Amino acid sequence: MPPAILWYRRDLRVHDLPALAAALSDGADAGVVPVFCFDDALLHGRFASARRTWFLLQTLQALDARWHELGGRVWWRRGNPAQELADVVRLTGATAVHASEDFSAFARARDERVARQLSDVGAELTLHPGVAISSDLGALRTKAGKPHIVFTPFSKVWGAQERRELVKTPTQLHTPPGKRGALPSLEDLGFDPADAAVEDPPQAGEVAGVAAAKSWSQQGLAEYEERRSDLAAVTSRLSAHLHYGSVSPLLVERMTLDQPGPGSQTYRSELAWRDFYLQVLLQFPYVARQEFQEKYRALSWEDDPEALERWKAGQTGYPVVDAAMRELAATGFMHNRARMIVASFLTKDLHLNWREGERWFMQQLLDGDLASNNGGWQWTASTGTDPAPYFRRMFNPTLQQQKFDTSGRYVRRWCPELAQVPAKRLAEPWKMSPAEQRQAGCIIGTDYPEPMVDHAEERRHAVERYQAVSA
Ligand SMILES: Cc1cc2nc3c(=O)[nH]c(=O)nc-3n(C[C@H](O)[C@H](O)[C@H](O)COP(=O)(O)OP(=O)(O)OC[C@H]3O[C@@H](n4cnc5c(N)ncnc54)[C@H](O)[C@@H]3O)c2cc1C
Repeated sequence: MPPAILWYRRDLRVHDLPALAAALSDGADAGVVPVFCFDDALLHGRFASARRTWFLLQTLQALDARWHELGGRVWWRRGNPAQELADVVRLTGATAVHASEDFSAFARARDERVARQLSDVGAELTLHPGVAISSDLGALRTKAGKPHIVFTPFSKVWGAQERRELVKTPTQLHTPPGKRGALPSLEDLGFDPADAAVEDPPQAGEVAGVAAAKSWSQQGLAEYEERRSDLAAVTSRLSAHLHYGSVSPLLVERMTLDQPGPGSQTYRSELAWRDFYLQVLLQFPYVARQEFQEKYRALSWEDDPEALERWKAGQTGYPVVDAAMRELAATGFMHNRARMIVASFLTKDLHLNWREGERWFMQQLLDGDLASNNGGWQWTASTGTDPAPYFRRMFNPTLQQQKFDTSGRYVRRWCPELAQVPAKRLAEPWKMSPAEQRQAGCIIGTDYPEPMVDHAEERRHAVERYQAVSA
């Protein structure tokens, strides 16, 4: 009997992996060949990111170490996955290839191509659940049988949908000897390590991912309900692990449900957003390129590269926006509330196309994820699913800061030039008198920028723009 192939994509673990269980059963004594194929179409596509590729490499290294510990090794390939997998099939004589189902139009078209090419060489590709919590996102429909476009009803049917059993972690793995190749470096993959540097990244790999999920569920969840919107508070930070599958989302849900209290319910609902946006991408693949709501495809956007650069650099003059953009640049992470605030500022105060923000986030975030990022940007730009009137999602950066950074810790940490600004002026430092500015060691226009726009005025302009295309 030949070995079976497990094609890893973004399910980079050995625990709770239905595709691995199927490969183990098919490969029996001959073992499993786990293959990861570096695909330039993804690595250097429109959402290329040195940072995320660096985190991917760390995750893969940890994955290989896990396999090694259990008796196997991961095989590395680079190129067109259809050709590379067909080559591994020829080398090993495998007839079964297993992978976890993914949802974007790109992933689905790729999988169809791979399945065709594999069938030409006598192997069959089978897809399994494992990327989402739900095992069947396509089955989640409204009473009228339509895909969900509103979150709350989605989350109800999602929450009630039966879950698969967690798959047991194998205690032993076996990979037949062969040409397994070497894990490339970041430079080999065409990235400059200087572009990948981030402060204080999460530890990659499933051992770290599962440990983080465990300690979060036991220690963080209890306060989540109360503190999750506080910009200075720490949320679970599991997003990069969830993106690469170094922790099973179903396992995270299970750990969450095991804990009592409101934090657990609220956290589960955040996990539901992740599945919601995967479902949106599955059912409405065009959102990856277009506004979900047709009427908003006609919105007019400004073309202002200088304004875009100031937003990216955290030099807008609105402290909470600047703190968030600097947190992103330094760490590759940003708090969810802050993501909404800066996305609203880009689209509704600067009137810049949400795609600019989407692209910048994908370049900078370690957890950059097509479904959640696109969903978050379209939600905030009011062009997406879970619709609400556009004027409800126009965030006032001053009020947001006063409400969600009450201690001022977040802004002072990321905008050190504002460290001595008195609390009552921290959200509007431009209102400091010249004496206050001198005392705080922060001269507006010199040490910290003047606000680049007037929020109240831009809000009116945004209303006009949205009104102009709203039927
Ligand atoms: C404009 C914008 C862009 C975003 N881009 C991304 C992205 O590229 N990748 C990404 O993983 N998340 C994205 N989010 C969602 C959310 O901000 C992050 O998942 C969250 O901040 C990650 O931190 P955490 O793991 O500590 O979250 P927690 O608050 O601890 O939440 C736990 C998990 O729930 C999921 N989740 C929480 N909120 C959301 C949400 N609104 N949408 C989808 N999933 C959610 C995530 O998987 C997250 O890890 C974006 C949100 C906005 C508004």
